[in-house]
Formats: sequence, C-alpha cells, structure tokens
Amino acid sequence: MSTDSKPIVYLLGTGGTIATQGANRMDGTEYGTAGIRAPIQEMLDRVPEAADFAQVKAEQFINVASTGIELDHWLALAKRINQIFSEEPEVAGVAVTHGTATLEETAYFLNLTVKSRKPVVVTGAMRPPTAMGTDADVNLLNAIQTAASPESVGRGVVTVLNNEIQAARHVTKTNTYRVETFKSGEFGFLGYADSDHRVVYYQSPSRRHTYESEFSVDGLTELPRVEIAYSTAGGDGLPVRLFAEAGVSGIVSAALAPGASHPDQMDALETVTKAGIPVVIAAHVGSGRVILTEGNMERGYIAGDNLSPKKARILLMLALTVTRDRGEIQRMFDTY
Ligand code: ASP
Repeated sequence: MSTDSKPIVYLLGTGGTIATQGANRMDGTEYGTAGIRAPIQEMLDRVPEAADFAQVKAEQFINVASTGIELDHWLALAKRINQIFSEEPEVAGVAVTHGTATLEETAYFLNLTVKSRKPVVVTGAMRPPTAMGTDADVNLLNAIQTAASPESVGRGVVTVLNNEIQAARHVTKTNTYRVETFKSGEFGFLGYADSDHRVVYYQSPSRRHTYESEFSVDGLTELPRVEIAYSTAGGDGLPVRLFAEAGVSGIVSAALAPGASHPDQMDALETVTKAGIPVVIAAHVGSGRVILTEGNMERGYIAGDNLSPKKARILLMLALTVTRDRGEIQRMFDTY
C-alpha cells in the first residue's frame, strides 16, 4: 500500500513530557522546569515509520504540561474530535498526545463524550524525547498504529504506552517514573501494539462508552464544579463543609475502603446531602466496588462502584449536566 492509501489519522498534540525538551540525555526529572515543548509536527517528524500505518494529519491542539489541563480543554478537545469525525468521514481514528499526570482523566472524559465508534487513542511518555531510552517515539508510533487499526473500532477510548493498550475507564498511573506506570489493576490490558506491526486485542470494556453514551458536550460551555474530599484517620468534616460553603455542585468522597470515613466526615457528608448536594462515595484504595448498602441508601449517597475518586468526579460532573436526581445518577454509575 502506498502512503496515500493508508488510513487517515489525526494526531492532536496537547503537550506533556512526550513533547518536552530536557537539558541533556540524563535529564529525566528537571526537564519540566524550562517548559520547552516541541510542536506536534516536530514530534511526528521523529517517527517516519508512522507512514507505514497511516496518513497522519498533525494538529497542535494546545501545548501544556498535563498538570495544567483545564476542564475547558476537555470540552474543547471532545468537541474537536466529534467535529473531525462528523465533518471528515474519511478519517479512521484520532491519536492524542498528552502529559501522563492527568492522561487517564482526559481519556475517561473523552470515553464518555466522543460520539463515534472510531478509535480514539491517548498516549504520553515517561521519559522526554531528549532523554536516553526515551519512550516518546515508540509510544507515538504505537498510538498512530492503534488509531489506524480496524481492530480498535468500537472499543471506546484507549490509552497506549509501553506497547500496552488499556481501557480509559480502568487505566491509572501507578508509578512516578517507570515506563510501565500505566496499569488497569484487576482488569488487565486490552491488548498490545507491537513491533510486528500488529494491534492485538484480547478483551473489550463492557461498560457503556463513546457512541452509546448519553452525555453530550454540544452546547456545553462549562462543567459543574465537583470536588473530592479525601478520607484519613482523624480527617474530620472540614473539607466537606468548606466545599459546601464554596457552593460546589457535587462532592466525591475518596473514602476509606470499603466506603466509610471518619464519623465527623460522615456527618458532614450527610448534612450536605440533605442540603441537596449530590455525594458519591468512591474508595481510594485502587480496586474493588463501593456497594450501595442500606446505610448508603438511607443517607442518600450514590455508590461510586469501582471508579477511582478522580474518575467518579468526571462521571458526576457529566451526570450533573443532565440531572440532579439521585436514582438517575446511581443508574449512571452502574452503567458507565
Ligand atoms: N509533567 C508531565 C505532564 O503531565 C508528566 C508527563 O507527561 O509524564 O505533562
């Protein structure tokens, strides 16, 4: 196949380590300070092998560290991807480069708001392109390879780093520096993008996503403010009370497993729930369900299932764009 007959893939650059220039080949920690980030076209030019998989259209969406990703960026990114798929039906898929710090959050937001079965693949890097042993080039290549692959159709938004394809709903960063930082816990990888040019899947996520999602960013100009209250021994209800005073639209309790908090924090959560602020209970241990127990029901809480608190925050924000009804929001947490 000539390059012209390859699938068309958009490559949207948002910044992150994958684009950041270090001071020298040993700079694996300080490179973010100067904040010098290469344009997406320059990153693509480093990987001529991408032409084996796709005709790539590089587009600089933004160029920031992912610690600087804003909710407005999510809305604009979802809208841009939806626009690409609706206005350019010949496009096979979209790859997004992103910093790893909030990569899983952006991926899950897109998983709930992109309206297409076509592949959307988010990638990043743990070592900048200037560092010895960088993973920037291979991750970029694998993201394009995965976005171009018909095997990826209908699987929702996925992430690809370290050759491993993972579901946006399950994936989380687990290590500060290692290239194998992204894991999906008990659920494992969906598949691999390997150097034999194949994209191989072994499973698909079963929760609703993308083309089946009831959430829409069309016409949305902002997201409701939802904050996370972290539970610890002795962690009283202060954060919950302060969030409520500040006028948040919803609160996620990052609870002690399996879903409780310090008694004072429990009282504060109950008080704000009675005042009409939806509260989702999510556990911060990294795996396992928060169950809709009788106690949770009586207090009016929403059980966050096995979503991490940060992903529960995203789902609650989107849920609140549609409803404030507790039963409806619980259905959404049981569905997505
Ligand atoms: N600080 C970087 C960011 O999130 C980390 C990375 O990309 O790995 O943008």
